[in-house]
Amino acid sequence: MEDNTAAARDESRQPTAHDLEVLSRQLGRPVRDVVEIPARCVCGNPLVAATAPRLSNGTPFPTTFYLTHPVITSAVSRLEAGGTMNDMNDQLAEDAGLAAAYRAAHEQYLAARDAIGRRSGIGAVPEIDGVSAGGMPTRVKCLHVLVGHSLAAGRGVNPLGDKALDMISEWWTADKCYCDGAWDTTGEAPSRDLSRHGPQGLPDIVGRPAPVRKSAGSGKAAE
Ligand SMILES: [Zn+2]
Repeated sequence: MEDNTAAARDESRQPTAHDLEVLSRQLGRPVRDVVEIPARCVCGNPLVAATAPRLSNGTPFPTTFYLTHPVITSAVSRLEAGGTMNDMNDQLAEDAGLAAAYRAAHEQYLAARDAIGRRSGIGAVPEIDGVSAGGMPTRVKCLHVLVGHSLAAGRGVNPLGDKALDMISEWWTADKCYCDGAWDTTGEAPSRDLSRHGPQGLPDIVGRPAPVRKSAGSGKAAE
């Protein structure tokens, strides 16, 4: 590989402030601990976010590649709803070659995660040694994970992620930009501040009273 190609790839992996804003708009929530952008639309927008194998709060995090582009995530959801995962699990049980390739994809996932841990200065995360995601190495439990892996690793690494990409080609292909109108670009992006409140903050926002622990009179205030 040419040095300048590798350098260009390293540069495109680095998430910019704009990337992080786009990610939070794509997902409708703030993103945290994103350390690389391993796959981009032809227009440059992120397709996949790579999360650190250990979050900043110390939690080990095995799911490295997260599919963020709404056009792809909804297309993959359609496959899931249509029973594609059951079909793939049947194929894994019947086809030894496919099963071996899928196991190799699992190993590549672990190696890619180790490399990301090294590049981001996090180092080894022994708690998740041998643990990948999406059901690998023997099952298919989340197609989004497999497609995220295929987009991050490139074709020819994850056979079932590649297959799912082929199956969504009616809705998304790598050679075109599908970003226009795919997420809300108006107003402020979901901010870090909101994430701190989480679902617990919701009753206040929507004006519902918080549950009452003690009631002076009836004793039946809550429920
Ligand atoms: Zn695009």
